[in-house]
Amino acid sequence: MRPFTWLAPDTTEEAVALLREHGTGARVIAGGQSLLLAMKERTVGPSHLVSLGGITGLARVTTEPDGALVVGAATTYAALTRAALPGWHGVLSDVAGDLADRPVRNRGTIGGALCAADPRFDVPALAVGVDAVLRISGAAGDRTLPAAEFLRGNGITAIGPDEILTAVVLPPLPAWDAVVFEKFRHRVFDAAIVSATCALRRACDGTPAAVRVTVAGATATPVVLDVDAAATAADAADLAAASFHPDATDEPTRYRRELVRTLVRRTVDRAHTQQGSA
Ligand SMILES: Cc1cc2nc3c(=O)[nH]c(=O)nc-3n(C[C@H](O)[C@H](O)[C@H](O)COP(=O)(O)OP(=O)(O)OC[C@H]3O[C@@H](n4cnc5c(N)ncnc54)[C@H](O)[C@@H]3O)c2cc1C
Repeated sequence: MRPFTWLAPDTTEEAVALLREHGTGARVIAGGQSLLLAMKERTVGPSHLVSLGGITGLARVTTEPDGALVVGAATTYAALTRAALPGWHGVLSDVAGDLADRPVRNRGTIGGALCAADPRFDVPALAVGVDAVLRISGAAGDRTLPAAEFLRGNGITAIGPDEILTAVVLPPLPAWDAVVFEKFRHRVFDAAIVSATCALRRACDGTPAAVRVTVAGATATPVVLDVDAAATAADAADLAAASFHPDATDEPTRYRRELVRTLVRRTVDRAHTQQGSA
């Protein structure tokens, strides 16, 4: 690992100013679970690390007057696991508690996972799956972006060099009546090969009014499928499989395609049978 200077701002504004001052040599560090590995492997070699650890407001979970859940970007998986989140917001706790191992969950943050933009990570997949919005602060001011627009490729996001992701905002509970996340991994501590999320909203008569199906891991960024609200789980699964390299015949791609099909069928099936969570 190359030598670096550790900077510990107390506020987001100070952190942004430090990023601006030190330019391309500066990197934000949250839990360090992805960044420190990259530094050890020398794929990155920042001269300055701007730590988010001292910015208390960034690790809070609050609820807006309209019911939206605001999760500070520096909130750890462990804190999310302990949070008593109501209704379908609780899926975030379940996902945070079922990834990696305890040391990673104690240090790793929701914002770090999104900014690392690794297609195998669970939180970016779920954020796109429920149509979360991300809050970003930078030298030019504050802005928001849907999670789907934030993730641009493997390791690539829409965040600028002097910007900080400050929060992940989950829509209010009435946005969805059921949210189901499923992933497939070989061993319990492995990252997912494929994951699927189904978010479903019902009409007054109980029939599905909107279904949002998102597949992640199989492509560089999560893909939101164009699934009709009236589609059965089997129809949605076939559509998902058909949209994933339909002509490829090599074994690894076929294997992933069948995982996509299976996980989409399961999530849609479970969402259809889940009771309203608001
Ligand atoms: C052994 C191991 C197993 C793992 N298994 C899984 C798994 O099964 N599922 C899963 O989903 N993930 C898994 N992970 C990945 C883990 O989720 C991420 O490493 C972690 O969430 C990254 O968060 P962090 O706070 O540690 O980010 P850091 O490593 O501190 O930062 C990651 C990147 O994001 C940038 N960054 C961080 N926060 C911000 C911010 N607020 N604003 C702007 N830029 C920021 C940093 O500059 C850096 O580029 C695993 C990791 C390890 C080490």
